[in-house]
Amino acid sequence: MTWSSVRWIVLAFVVCAVGVGPAAAQVATPGSEGIGDPYFPLMGNGGYDVQHYTIEMTVDVAGNRVDATTTVEAQATQDLAAFALDFSGPPISRIDIDSKAAKHDRSGGELTVTPATPLASGSDFTVTIAYAGRPGHGEGPFGGGWTAERDEIFVFGEPTGPETWYPANAHPADKATYTLEITVSKPYEVASIGTLQRTTDNGDSRTFLWETRDPAAGYLVPLHIGELDETTAAGPGGLPIRNYFADAIPAASRASFDRLPDMIACFESVFGPYPFEAYGATVVDQALGAALETQTLSTHGRDATAQSVVAHELAHQWFGNSVGLERWRDIWLNEGFATYGEWLWTEHTRGAAARDEQVRRWYAVLAARDRLHDRAALEQMNARELVDLVLAAFPGLISEEDMRSRLGVKSKAELERRSASEALEQLDLPPPALQPVTIGDPGPDSLFRGAVYGRGGLTLHALRLRLGDELFFQTLQTYTERYRHATVTTEDFIAVAEQTSGQDLDAFFDAWLHQTALPPIPELGLEVER
Ligand SMILES: [Zn+2]
Repeated sequence: MTWSSVRWIVLAFVVCAVGVGPAAAQVATPGSEGIGDPYFPLMGNGGYDVQHYTIEMTVDVAGNRVDATTTVEAQATQDLAAFALDFSGPPISRIDIDSKAAKHDRSGGELTVTPATPLASGSDFTVTIAYAGRPGHGEGPFGGGWTAERDEIFVFGEPTGPETWYPANAHPADKATYTLEITVSKPYEVASIGTLQRTTDNGDSRTFLWETRDPAAGYLVPLHIGELDETTAAGPGGLPIRNYFADAIPAASRASFDRLPDMIACFESVFGPYPFEAYGATVVDQALGAALETQTLSTHGRDATAQSVVAHELAHQWFGNSVGLERWRDIWLNEGFATYGEWLWTEHTRGAAARDEQVRRWYAVLAARDRLHDRAALEQMNARELVDLVLAAFPGLISEEDMRSRLGVKSKAELERRSASEALEQLDLPPPALQPVTIGDPGPDSLFRGAVYGRGGLTLHALRLRLGDELFFQTLQTYTERYRHATVTTEDFIAVAEQTSGQDLDAFFDAWLHQTALPPIPELGLEVER
């Protein structure tokens, strides 16, 4: 995802049933209510692996209500007496497992389903859940999933969101393929994942059948319902590109998307082949200040359509979508790489000097934040030096005028007489502004802190300068090829980099990912002054 502008909020963030297995006569136990993510213990579920979701849904756009059946095809990975799905959507009328009625129980966001007889480990099973009413809206740090505004509905959320509109194993570690069969009244249209297989005219309504051949994480399944304009183009090798715009989106906000064929060609040359069957974006008529890299069809707020944002979400199709996260702790593998994609697009369109300027700008911001976190250094400063440091650390977020008025001073001389530490308290900056973050383990509340993006991008640029272009881009391409449509941890990326380069990179990655102090980039003469 991207925030179109760095904002303060970026700093802030962001039954026990026992049965007996029929064949092996082993004791079947309930699957766990979490997939094992240390940051989000209840996210996803254990004991099974989903292969495919079929979401059949009639959506009343004006009333924001759905009448839906979601079918989950899965395989048991243990003898299962019961299992959980994540779901905070509308009331359920019936659940069947392999066409036999199953008991269910809802508590918090967990839907526990108990089959009539236990499911043997390794067996395939199909769960059908019928539900109707108003979908949920989550409280995630970035989007709440199902979102209905005026005459438009879309989904937007990370790390949570899918559970608001369909029952899911809602963690990126369990990817699956999808079929969505969505019926809406005319004149609404539906944009979603993969390829539009067919549109059926039912008289007053139409049914749109979307399908993806490649697996996706739940939060990456797009859905946009509204009065949409569609444009199409051909990407490299004839890759279908289809963009959707809420009809109120002005032409100026649509222009960046014309660059997609060039952008895809540019990224294929550095990241390797584009991993999916189609691409494009859908632009909603809401000022989200953000965009999300939903798979094969990124979702952009109407105020998040700059070329850098378009490049960022496209880069995620390789990094975050095809190569997905095994656990949320490694979020820099998504955001650092997508940020680096923005810089590579700058390099392609405006040259290496313009790219270096972006690198230097981010370094200056993070170096200033680094110094702001250094309490001993602050003790030595006066308030004028502090004001300069805050301006450098949070450009565009706070003005010198604003700080002077908070401090009640009129002149520079007056500022110079005040101590920095006293002034810092008076400035009353949001607490996360003063907390350092280690991007290799930022914590669940800091997945979307600016450093995860900027320092993540700098980590890759520093690696490129260390390895040279040939070994660096070979590393990226080996990584996207080896883990295509799979999930990874940071260790997997480091292993590819070490294998490709023949270098021991443990100290390098430890300094960039697990220490708070910003490392120098000697090749560019960049270093934090201490
Ligand atoms: Zn992103």
